[in-house]
Amino acid sequence: MSRPIRLRQASSGAFALLLLIAGVTSPPFAGRVSAHGPDPMLSSKLFGQDQAVSFRWRTGSEPPSAIKTAVKAAAAGIAASRRSRAATFPYASAGGSLIGYGAGATCGVNGIACFTRSAPTSFTMWLREQGRVFDWGTLRWCQMYTTAPTGCYDAETIALDEFGHVEGLGHHLNFGDDTDYLDAVVQTYSRTKAKSGWNEHALGRCDVATLQREYDVPSSATGISTCLHLDTIATLGATATAVVYGGTVGFTAGLRIAGDADYGRLANNALSGRTVKLQQRAVGTTTWSTVATMTVGTASGTYVASVKLLSSSEFRALYSASSTEGLNGDASPVLSVLVASCAGAPCLLPSPR
Ligand SMILES: [Zn+2]
Repeated sequence: MSRPIRLRQASSGAFALLLLIAGVTSPPFAGRVSAHGPDPMLSSKLFGQDQAVSFRWRTGSEPPSAIKTAVKAAAAGIAASRRSRAATFPYASAGGSLIGYGAGATCGVNGIACFTRSAPTSFTMWLREQGRVFDWGTLRWCQMYTTAPTGCYDAETIALDEFGHVEGLGHHLNFGDDTDYLDAVVQTYSRTKAKSGWNEHALGRCDVATLQREYDVPSSATGISTCLHLDTIATLGATATAVVYGGTVGFTAGLRIAGDADYGRLANNALSGRTVKLQQRAVGTTTWSTVATMTVGTASGTYVASVKLLSSSEFRALYSASSTEGLNGDASPVLSVLVASCAGAPCLLPSPR
């Protein structure tokens, strides 16, 4: 049973991946990958980081106003939910990319919408017309009704899928049972009202994951998508490795993403705004205790704390994985600090009580 997916090579060399529709019959699941992760990429050609790729309506094929509103909302949704430096798609009357609607659409036979991308220059997008009859039924855009009927397609969700493709995203690979469907809006099978996910208006975490990897994050404090599972590297340095009794040692920890080649532009990124703890143990013991939650250091991805030392100790910086982002925890190598004993008077050191 062939899957209703078609990939055609446009004359420009750009890919046009058709939006697929789940018709009356359920799509086959054979061959779907039972894996969960960031969306695949269509190609390695990207737009520039934060590039504003403006669009206008295709002359003679302008969408009705309700569809225009939905497409503009989808473009805004990309900007608001990308959590990365992926391209944005502002509307401009002289925009260089064309979005059209209607019978002139160059989509494949089953496509309700489609796109081409010519990164880093431009893209095109088409949406089929309300009422178009396909083998599977009649296309209804939810936006064309005062009360959207069951079985309609949300044009904003569909446009989000297309904009996601324009960024370079391929369709999310769902689990066989689709329990992770809501992790992405860039989906092989878009859902109709009122199936869950029919009206998603923001990118899903696994769409974002790939955009972060390919386009990078806007700042070192940006949360990393939970669709990723990136290793981190914690380091620890000290102002001294030996002090007098009662002396204070300043510690600086560093936290960054590991340098794995698979991490794309996220590799080696500094990580700011995370919780890094300084832990201490007596030399010769094994149990760590937290002595400080380190505060923001001067450099990006650094954390500082000071400790007054009364006995020789070992230290480490600990970053614990958080359920709110896709980073694995790490502990720094152990750092030893010796406390010199006061041998003989006059002792210049503060005396212990
Ligand atoms: Zn799609």
